[in-house]
Amino acid sequence: MMTARLSFLFLLAGWILAAAACEVVEEEPYDIWIRGGTVVDGTGVPARVADVLIRGTEIDFVGEVEEAEALEVVDATGLHVAPGFLDGHSHAAQGLSDPELSDARALLAQGVTSVIVNPDGGGQVDLAAQQEAFLADGIGVNVFQLVPHGSLRREVMGDEDRAPTAEELEAMRAAVREGMEAGALGLSTGLFYVPGNYAETDELIELARVASEYGGVYHSHVRDEGGYSVGVLASNEELIRIAREADLPAIHSHIKAFGPREWGLSEELSTRIEAARSEGLEIFADLYPYEAAGGSVAGILIPREELAGGREALLDRVEGDPEERERIINGIRHSIELEGGADRIQFRRIAHAPELEGMTLAEAAEERGTDPAILALDLELAGGAGFITFGMLEDDIEAFMARPWTMIASDGGLSRMGEGVPHPRNYGAFTRVIETYVMERGVLELEEAIRRMTSLYGEAFPIRDRGVLEEGYAADVVVFDLDRVHEATSYLDPHHLSEGMTHVLVNGSFAIRDGEFTGERAGRTLRLQP
Ligand SMILES: [Zn+2]
Repeated sequence: MMTARLSFLFLLAGWILAAAACEVVEEEPYDIWIRGGTVVDGTGVPARVADVLIRGTEIDFVGEVEEAEALEVVDATGLHVAPGFLDGHSHAAQGLSDPELSDARALLAQGVTSVIVNPDGGGQVDLAAQQEAFLADGIGVNVFQLVPHGSLRREVMGDEDRAPTAEELEAMRAAVREGMEAGALGLSTGLFYVPGNYAETDELIELARVASEYGGVYHSHVRDEGGYSVGVLASNEELIRIAREADLPAIHSHIKAFGPREWGLSEELSTRIEAARSEGLEIFADLYPYEAAGGSVAGILIPREELAGGREALLDRVEGDPEERERIINGIRHSIELEGGADRIQFRRIAHAPELEGMTLAEAAEERGTDPAILALDLELAGGAGFITFGMLEDDIEAFMARPWTMIASDGGLSRMGEGVPHPRNYGAFTRVIETYVMERGVLELEEAIRRMTSLYGEAFPIRDRGVLEEGYAADVVVFDLDRVHEATSYLDPHHLSEGMTHVLVNGSFAIRDGEFTGERAGRTLRLQP
């Protein structure tokens, strides 16, 4: 018995030696040898000095290499080497279909090599057509898709504030099925927004069940993050119920405790998620590391019930009846309070009122000699207005970030350099986590922060070949200078690319080499791998 086991062990040792030897004397040279870097492999284990060998689009070996033949040797001494980052809540779909933005430099400069698009229940319903649009001019990063509930509900039943008929529900089910067949990772909802807000939980369970059949996830901007209606705790309960009844992982996206009514709820919310997890449910969250959220007058300030039927119906009501107008203005006034006040709301670029760009709602109202709620309504009726709101507390952000089940995501999109005042998360969400939360404040260890940007995505989503530096995984790799990682962007001057990424590889091709963009568009559209 003992002898048999021993000889088995010798045999095993022999295989390992032979396998290791093979790695270094293989006849075909490797494409890239990343040599002597400090490897943070994405799993959370301590960083170690190691080499990475890449052949084609895959990682072939990670470990110590004394000798190898490679077409290109990258000296990574003193640099960190990690899997390319995944961005699980990305509004980059539009930019990725635009030849001027689809090289995705703002993402690559942060180390992001894959994004998950169509969050918040929004975006294109026809995912195959969306993939074609991405590939028309090539893309700088890989793209996974979600099936957007709000968009497909609008296609089937418009912006109607009611439950679907049996036929309508069946049509929505079919649309989810089609999206999952096209390779989506799951179903996304935006239950705060119109029309997602008009859906009741049962409808969502029915649709999530279809995603579940394919091994997909439920990904949600929950019903209320800011005390507008049921509050964030009940909204999270709804998410957990959907995960339980539809039997699939659920992601509470851009988790936050927003506005004065919810401030401080991070502990309670986390405790509830942990209770669900210990019950065996796969509940996760993602977050972006900023105190300000993005929004718009229609998206945030106008009460949901006033939006049924769209902007024209709103205009009719406001013009037709002074009492209705007063009620809507009061509703907006209440929303402004929930956001923390008009001085916490800062306008982005407004096409029909460019002079307000960068001003707070309080400043703009004072300048125009009017009330903030009235100004907000006027701006909406004139064509809408986008803003950011400083509605989150650092304590809550750090409390969520400290939880091992939160992924880092940007909630950002790709914007044209120099145009408007977009949220800085478009340029710096990932580098900010490393620079501010790892290096400056020590909220996370580097290895753990990288895990939240990489392999944790493989636990939460049906993604199997990204997010770990290991043999057989796709060669999405970032090589960065930890001391130089810098977010560079800011709220008032956002248009600056992040710094510190020395090399970024997407599917084995250099997108950034020696700190310079190569112009390579090696991104692919990717399917779920259940
Ligand atoms: Zn959202």
